[in-house]
Amino acid sequence: MNSDVIELSASENIPANTLETGMQSPPATGEQSPVKPLLGMTLAELTDWVKSQGQAGYRGKQLYEWIYEKGVRSLLDVTVFPKQWREKVAQIPVGRSTIHHQYTTPDGTRKYLLSLADGQIIEAVGIPTSSRLTVCVSSQVGCPMGCDFCATGKGGWVRNLTPNEIIDQVLTVQEDFQQRVSNVVFMGMGEPLLNTENVLAAVRSLNQDVGIGARSITISTVGLKGRIRELAHHRLQSTLAVSLHASNQAMREQLIPSAYHYPLPELLAECREYVEMTGRRITFEYILLAGLNDSQEDAEELAHHLRGFQTHVNLIPYNPIKEVTYKRPSPQRVRDFVEALESQYITVSIRQTRGLSADAACGQLRASLSN
Ligand code: SAH
Ligand code: SF4
Repeated sequence: MNSDVIELSASENIPANTLETGMQSPPATGEQSPVKPLLGMTLAELTDWVKSQGQAGYRGKQLYEWIYEKGVRSLLDVTVFPKQWREKVAQIPVGRSTIHHQYTTPDGTRKYLLSLADGQIIEAVGIPTSSRLTVCVSSQVGCPMGCDFCATGKGGWVRNLTPNEIIDQVLTVQEDFQQRVSNVVFMGMGEPLLNTENVLAAVRSLNQDVGIGARSITISTVGLKGRIRELAHHRLQSTLAVSLHASNQAMREQLIPSAYHYPLPELLAECREYVEMTGRRITFEYILLAGLNDSQEDAEELAHHLRGFQTHVNLIPYNPIKEVTYKRPSPQRVRDFVEALESQYITVSIRQTRGLSADAACGQLRASLSN
């Protein structure tokens, strides 16, 4: 992926083997700014940039603080800079979005529809708890993977997000809550490993420039052949979450079209390699769909696959979307599933549903104004 912020073309971003899987091919992308935005640059890069503009090097540090701490959106507003110079460089984009719409749910979760430089709309979600502020970020406009239970997947794919467009989501939520963000999860719109390079650039900046602990950042992937192995080489301290959702190949294929080209044993083998290479655990996400993948046999089969894995399973009771008729299992059925896994010495958590009433919960993001 490109660590400089220039947008790759659609064909470069989506690997041929992905398009072969029958996922939707991308429509034409909107116009992207040809000028590299400043958000996402390191202190050294910003210092080089101000020097290239004929300014003293210390201005780089000032600019860095104005971008990452004060959240400036236009160079015109960096009032510590000489006015004449500010006006000269006013057209250089900082790389921030504008809030197009925002909803707050009774549980305090806030969903944001953000308008990007080319007019595309994405979603970010701020999830407060007593001790944390978590941001669920998008990595793409839409998603080409077409998972049957996911609103984003039903809406198709437009383009990958640039690093600044990812970092901006975190800054926007932080500013709106007036509270430091503690955790970031790549569980919004899009498949992060179809945009690995930009996601990694954003993760670097979120860690080093925005100050979020590497271990407090989670990248969630549905799994693409070879991509988890590729990611392992970066030896990230961040957490990898893999969306498994099924305990056997047939069910996985029914739910996730790309699974057809990526058999479950191969995915699990790559996950094992990841753990060996990075020394980090993987979390497996498992959406619970009533009557489909929530039986005791499913739990036993899942436990069998994960034996000896040093892992953690995050169960996600299905959040309804309008296109399909899947049902969320009863609380008792969820408890039974948990117990079956725990009896096999697998640690389990149940993802708390937040933001349901604004379609801001997992899998409900579609950048719509319907709420
Ligand atoms: N593309 C990545 C990350 C974004 S989706 C991935 O699939 O992992 C984030 C999480 O939301 C995934 O675990 C996904 O399976 C889950 N999800 C999608 N649709 C959902 C729904 N309707 N209800 C509950 N979880 C859902
Ligand atoms: Fe894409 Fe993840 Fe939704 Fe599947 S679940 S369509 S990979 S966003």
